[in-house]
Amino acid sequence: PRAWTLARRPDGMPVAEDFALIDHPSPPLEAGQLRIANRWLSVDPYMRGRMNDAKSYAAPFALGEPMGGHAVGEVIESNADGFAPGDMVQHMAGWRDEAVIVAREATKLPPIDVPPQAFLGQFGMPGMTAYFGLLHVAEARPGDTVFVSAAAGAVGSTVVQIAKAKGMTVIGSAGGPEKCDWVRSLGADHVLDYKAEGSLVKALSAAAPDGIDVYFDNVGGAHLDAALATARERARFAICGMIDIYNSAEPTRLRYIARIIAARIRIQGFLVSDHMAHVGDFYREMATMVGRLKREETVVDGLDAMPDAFLGLFSGRNMGKMLVRL
Ligand code: NDP
Repeated sequence: PRAWTLARRPDGMPVAEDFALIDHPSPPLEAGQLRIANRWLSVDPYMRGRMNDAKSYAAPFALGEPMGGHAVGEVIESNADGFAPGDMVQHMAGWRDEAVIVAREATKLPPIDVPPQAFLGQFGMPGMTAYFGLLHVAEARPGDTVFVSAAAGAVGSTVVQIAKAKGMTVIGSAGGPEKCDWVRSLGADHVLDYKAEGSLVKALSAAAPDGIDVYFDNVGGAHLDAALATARERARFAICGMIDIYNSAEPTRLRYIARIIAARIRIQGFLVSDHMAHVGDFYREMATMVGRLKREETVVDGLDAMPDAFLGLFSGRNMGKMLVRL
């Protein structure tokens, strides 16, 4: 078996030489362990933070050690009660083709009628992020006008659809006409192509003449500034991600930041992991929407191409969830 490791810590945008594919031993199973053939591996923007040698909410990847991340695979050997060869499970030993883990670190896929890889996207961590960020953190309600950035991504496209299902007006932004058409097809009332717009503030004000009640931030930077500029009084911002600055040390200039005061904007950062006590609500509610939810995937084949798939997140190569298929 083989696994990706971090060969050195990236400076700015990662490059191919920062990663190394190594042979990884496949030891005999100890009591309580499973051997899993990974079928689908996830690449996620937060992994960029784990490449830095800085303490954050997720520990830094150790140099030379297999990297980790969400994965879905098939049990091929079990030394643990409750698991048998053929079981499909999700776990965190990604970035490799075969995983040996203790059984308590694996979870069987929930009984929802979607393909296994959907549990890495809309029915997994990114979907939970959309659901909890919109409904619990921003406390978005029917009738609200919601602005969401990176709206054609895994999290954003789910935010758009949950917000529409709950009777909100939705403005999404995405890069390029193809993604914007797709976001419109998800039900968004207005879509901004941020790569084509001159001023995001002007475009957002035109789409929401009465202002926005909620901003779901995936991007930071100019998107956050435009949301500050157009926020109504007592608007709520759920700060989910700031992909605009993950590869840069440049501080973001926010021209409209003082509007936080006059408009009494509530800005709340969050981590999806804080909301796991309510994960049952997420699965229950999402299961009722299975037939109505649209889902797009950008699939890259083979372990060798995994760093490329990861880097593609930062150039917008993905529509919907970016996945690696083995
Ligand atoms: P996406 O599927 O949205 O992929 C990333 C997308 O971001 C790209 O497709 C691209 O779309 C857009 N993008 C990349 N660079 C920029 C840029 N400089 N400016 C504007 N847009 C950019 O990823 P996810 O759905 O997995 O994640 C979305 C966000 O949510 C990320 O910021 C991530 O870190 C965050 N997140 C936070 C969690 C939490 O617990 N707080 C949990 C999970 C995710 P386009 O072509 O439209 O530019």
